[in-house]
Formats: sequence, structure tokens, C-alpha cells
Amino acid sequence: LFVSGKTGQYSDFEDYIFGTYVRIRISSKVNPSTISKAIFNEMKRLEKKFDPYIESSIIYKLNHSEDWVEVDDETLSVIDLALKIARDTEGAFDPALGRLIQLWGFSKFTEREATGTFTVPSASEIAEAVSNSGYQKIAIDYINKKIKTNGAWIDLGGILKGYALKRAYQIAKEFDKSCHGFVETGGQIMILGPKYNKTHWVIGVRDPRGQPGENITIVYLSEGSIATSGDYERFFIVDNVRYHHILDPRTGYPANKAISATVIAGDPVIADAFSTAAFVLGEDRWLFTRTVFPKYGAEVLLVTPKKQLLRTDNFRIYEMSDR
Ligand code: ADP
Ligand code: MG
Ligand code: MG
Repeated sequence: LFVSGKTGQYSDFEDYIFGTYVRIRISSKVNPSTISKAIFNEMKRLEKKFDPYIESSIIYKLNHSEDWVEVDDETLSVIDLALKIARDTEGAFDPALGRLIQLWGFSKFTEREATGTFTVPSASEIAEAVSNSGYQKIAIDYINKKIKTNGAWIDLGGILKGYALKRAYQIAKEFDKSCHGFVETGGQIMILGPKYNKTHWVIGVRDPRGQPGENITIVYLSEGSIATSGDYERFFIVDNVRYHHILDPRTGYPANKAISATVIAGDPVIADAFSTAAFVLGEDRWLFTRTVFPKYGAEVLLVTPKKQLLRTDNFRIYEMSDR
């Protein structure tokens, strides 16, 4: 995603969190640097709390316990929502693919990229990881606030940045209801408010086979969130085959029925999780996506492997500057 040039008195801030650059462009009567610091601190708290590979994190604890684990309210509600979205997308979005993600090496992506140590797992390793994965394995005891993973590993990589953007929005608005600008985490943007002249922000959706800055379409947003999941974000190539980080839970291999999926939604959590799901469902299950996703507030633009553009009925509205 790419946002067009700034106008008015905006301040820009940047930090590296969740393995990506987080950028804030904000205008406020409250010191913008104070607001940005609070947002970055909150995101770092979430990163530490939900990173499955940090031994002190709650996800590490859940993934390495055979028994029920007591969790706090925030953990319970994030995992509960992730499981609900898994059911609503017929398992295309699956927050319990941790074993597969680790097997493919996407958990230590930056390190592996630097050393070039990617390999394709064997079919039997993948089958084994598939049988030990899946959201149906995760059990929640709502009365005693406990979770049991039953051998699967939770990985919230497909929803956590969306949740972090939701918190960013709440924090910014607590400081100043009328602040405006946006927050960006890699492939997702949360609008804090319209531009100075009360017009939309102009956001380019990247051409999944073009250079950064080459757009496949432009959307105009003054509120809500937009998220793109693409096969060009985190991938490696072995024997001319591209292996990327969005996995089809049914096969255990990278989903290959789309090359990018973009979702616009009021709620950034919906935008994030449903963009991952739309990517997995791909062109084969587009009928499901276009009928069901708008009911959850998600408008979708899917780019098929042959670079055909498929849109839900109301996605077009966001591509019109004069709406
Ligand atoms: P990004 O990481 O660029 O925000 P996504 O929101 O699509 O992209 O999330 C991809 C991440 O989600 C992967 O890196 C992995 O951690 C996790 N993931 C991979 N496949 C799935 C899936 N089918 N459902 C849910 N999460 C997934
Ligand atoms: Mg996503
Ligand atoms: Mg995401």
C-alpha cells in the first residue's frame, strides 16, 4: 500500500515492530510525538506478549503446555475472535498453523533471508504438521478463562497487526478525539481521520507483480482500514518455484489461487484476518468470498494468478474519488 504526498501540518514517526516498519502520520493539538510514542509502546507490548517464539510470551506458554492454561481477558478475547473468524471463513483463516509456519521457516524469516537457508519441507513433514495444526484443536473454557491447544501451535501473525492498529486508533483518540492522519504497519493502514481539507487519503494498492509504487488500483479512504495480503511480501524461490508465507490450512502448502487480496473494513482486525482468508480462498472459492465477506463488513479486491481483478459489489465505491 502507498499513500500519496502529505499536505498540511503532519508529523511523521517510524519504528520497527512486528518484523516491519510501522509509520505514523499525525496531526493533533496534543504533542504528536507523545501520541506516537504511546502507540509504539503499545505495539511493542503486544509483540512481546503474543510472539510465539519469545519464551515469556503467553502464546509460547500455551503452545508448550499439554494442559489448560489460565489467560488474561485480552488474550482470551483475541484468541476467541480469531477462532470465530476461522469458523466464519470455513477455516481459510486459521490462527493455529504455528507448526506449519515454523516448518516452512517463516517464523525466522529475516534471519533465513539474510543467510539464504530456505529449504522446502518434505511431503511427509508437511502432512505431519497439518495433522498437528488447526483451529478446531483449540479449546476455550470461558468460565475459568483457560485455553488448551491440544498439540496445535497458535500463531496470530494473520491478525495481530490488525489488533495492534485497533489499539493504535483507540490510543490516538484517547489523547485527542479530533486528531487525524493514519498508522501503517507493512501492508495495512488504519485511518485516524481525513486529510486537512477533509478529503480522503489517496491509497495505492500495489501491483503484486510490479515494483513498489506501481499500483493496480487507487482507493480513497477517510476512515476505517485497508489491508493487503500478497505472495510478494515474504517468500523464497527454490527451483523457480515461489514459496510464500500465506499457507492453505488444508494442504499445508502456500495458497496458490491468488497473488494478492485487499480488504477494506471499518474494523482493522476484520481487514487483516479477512485479507489473509480471501487470499487462501482465492479464485476457486470467490463465490463464497463475495457473498459472505461483506456481511462481516469486509469489501474485497482479489488479484487472481492470471492478474484478473475480482471485486465484491461495494469495493468499487472506494475507487471513486467523488463519492
Ligand atoms: P502480513 O504478515 O503481511 O500482515 P497477513 O496478514 O496475510 O500478512 O498474515 C500472514 C501471516 O499470518 C503469516 O506470516 C503467518 O504468520 C500467518 N498465516 C499464514 N497462513 C495463515 C492462514 N491461512 N490463516 C491465518 N494466519 C496465517
Ligand atoms: Mg491479514
Ligand atoms: Mg496482516
